[in-house]
Amino acid sequence: MTEKKDKLTIALEQGLESNKSVIKHKMFAPTTQVQMAFLAKDMGLYPYFIPNFGQIGPRTLINGKETIMLGSNNYMGLANHPEMIQTGIEALKKYGTGCTGSRFLNGTLDLHIELEDKLAKFFNKESALCFSTGMQANLGTIAGITTKDDHIVSDENNHASIIDGCRLSYGKTHVYKHDDMDDLERVLESLPAGGNHWVVTDGIFSMEGNLAQIPRIIELARHHGARVIIDDAHGIGYLGDHGEGSCGLFNVMDQVDILTGTFSKSFACIGGFSVASEEIIHHLKHHARSLIYSASMPPVMTACAIKALEIFYREDGLRKQVLINAGNFRKGVEAIGFRTVPQRIPTPIVPIIIGDAFKMLKMNKSLLAAGLYTNPVVPPAAPEALLRTSLMATHTQKDIDDALEILQRVGKKEGVLEG
Ligand code: PMP
Repeated sequence: MTEKKDKLTIALEQGLESNKSVIKHKMFAPTTQVQMAFLAKDMGLYPYFIPNFGQIGPRTLINGKETIMLGSNNYMGLANHPEMIQTGIEALKKYGTGCTGSRFLNGTLDLHIELEDKLAKFFNKESALCFSTGMQANLGTIAGITTKDDHIVSDENNHASIIDGCRLSYGKTHVYKHDDMDDLERVLESLPAGGNHWVVTDGIFSMEGNLAQIPRIIELARHHGARVIIDDAHGIGYLGDHGEGSCGLFNVMDQVDILTGTFSKSFACIGGFSVASEEIIHHLKHHARSLIYSASMPPVMTACAIKALEIFYREDGLRKQVLINAGNFRKGVEAIGFRTVPQRIPTPIVPIIIGDAFKMLKMNKSLLAAGLYTNPVVPPAAPEALLRTSLMATHTQKDIDDALEILQRVGKKEGVLEG
């Protein structure tokens, strides 16, 4: 049994009395996550809250060193796009820094209304509503649309914002096994007749980059009288004819009752949204607490989100390039000898499986020292410890080749790769 556990887990089980940092902190009884974090710190492997000192482009500045950025969600490369920056500057001059209030009262700008109109058109839905983050969009939408008589059926790997939206809801939540349509059917069959039932899923699952079986989910939901909510945070921008995301790709937008999304990934801003029928959006305007009781999206971000939509619509090239980049990178990673997670369709997310959490953290640290930024992921966020990498449309082949060279060199040094 023991040899199957990674070194972090074993160290944890051997007792943390020898762990210097834990002893210093007496205020809270440390949770497992906190203990793990202390342990990683004591081992010099703590990988979180690393500051960037520049724009999130293909290369950025970390610890005074130019670093290839493979750990962002800037899929379309818009975070440092000149038109986005110019748009932000103009909005800042015109509207100032913030709205200082919620959409409900003093925080609505003409820009918010313009963005909502354009989102509704972009996704071919009647109406849209902007929230200040994607997290708030899911919290407010899921909790706001469901009542105590409703049942929510949720994929077990759904994003934390969906899970928390379900927790905030007065309805009852049922979880089905990740991506398992038989289990979804079993759960749907077990629901009582009457009441509103909702099925909710990520469109693209964030850690492994996998596409949900959206047409089958819709079919099962409809058969059992349930409505469908898709959170397409990681699909919008590069999938579909104009970047409408997973539902555009499957041509099922009209069958999705609520689409939620974020401006923090392909849009390279901050904020979130729901698009749906006018009736649903009107309901959310009066029931989504994360909208009503929180300040609205700042003007700079609202203007930039409008600009991003415009760029998605016209820039076929960026959409294609991010997938070409991801394909080239994935091929290279596999050719070197790493395992990656198989995907239903290629996405910009390329997870490199390391397996052992300790090895993965060591690898992550050495990669950063060598000038490559990746995201460390440990179970239960993924079944095995992995380095989540993601490509941008603006990475060049040289960025990709340099990243592969670093991965190979560090992989060998850390004993993850043979040779
Ligand atoms: N949904 C998914 C699937 C996400 O990955 C995220 C962010 N990681 C969110 C929602 C929340 O988005 P935001 O960053 O805008 O809060």
